Amino acid sequence: MHLSCAIGTIPCLPSGAILADPMPTPTVTVPAQILVVEDESSIRDMLRFALERDGHVVLAAGSAAAARALLTDHAPDLAIVDWMLPGGSGLELVRALRRDERLLSLPVIMLTARTTEQDITAGLDAGADDYVTKPFSPRELGSRIRALLRRSRDFDGEDAVVRGPLTLDGAAHRLSAAGVEIALGHTEFKLLGFLMKHPERVYSRAQLLDHVWGPGTFIEERTVDVHVLRLRKALRPHGADTLIETVRGAGYRLGVPAEPVDDAVASVPIGKNPAGGT
Ligand code: CA
Repeated sequence: MHLSCAIGTIPCLPSGAILADPMPTPTVTVPAQILVVEDESSIRDMLRFALERDGHVVLAAGSAAAARALLTDHAPDLAIVDWMLPGGSGLELVRALRRDERLLSLPVIMLTARTTEQDITAGLDAGADDYVTKPFSPRELGSRIRALLRRSRDFDGEDAVVRGPLTLDGAAHRLSAAGVEIALGHTEFKLLGFLMKHPERVYSRAQLLDHVWGPGTFIEERTVDVHVLRLRKALRPHGADTLIETVRGAGYRLGVPAEPVDDAVASVPIGKNPAGGT
């Protein structure tokens, strides 16, 4: 079975044709500037139409190079990136975005006709936050965009959270370990922020999808594992990857280190109170 059939809300069709939108009514949404990177002009035009109908401003590029040129003087709120592009794939573009400090946290939806589980995992591994397979429904894409924008905006303006060596500042979108800044993708940042705000509690993959990706997200639970892997990889050089614990058969938990760090959230005084003392 193709994963695309399981994760989408639309049936699998053999052609690359776009499904007709069953209910073309405008949806109330917070306007955003959205970068569309798609080489097929018919799909690009359709995307522009659907996005502008939802009140968004569209920046369109027909290649990865054109997208990079646009990104030098625009700061979109979200990007929709086709996989197969002339002169450099969308996958390479997403990887490049994730290496660029300024674009690291740009929410990205991969849009592609490649539908095997391996492809989807590769897309997510490259740094995409979500994945929509062609043919797609503009309505479904619209709701995924809203969910992703909500996630990205929800996290702005929050106080810093400190757990062990990690300090996560939602307002500045910064994570640091012992004062050293750690680069994190948008979804990893959101996931870590959620776990840091609720330490020592186990969350199932489905619960994490609900809390981090938003209720009603049509994403495979396995996606959570991909992002946890990526998060641990980013934390490993700072010795903080073990904070994210896998609880077999249950899900994930952020463990608070046994050795409390000064002015962290730790409430147990260190070495002051020998066992049994009162
Ligand atoms: Ca293409």
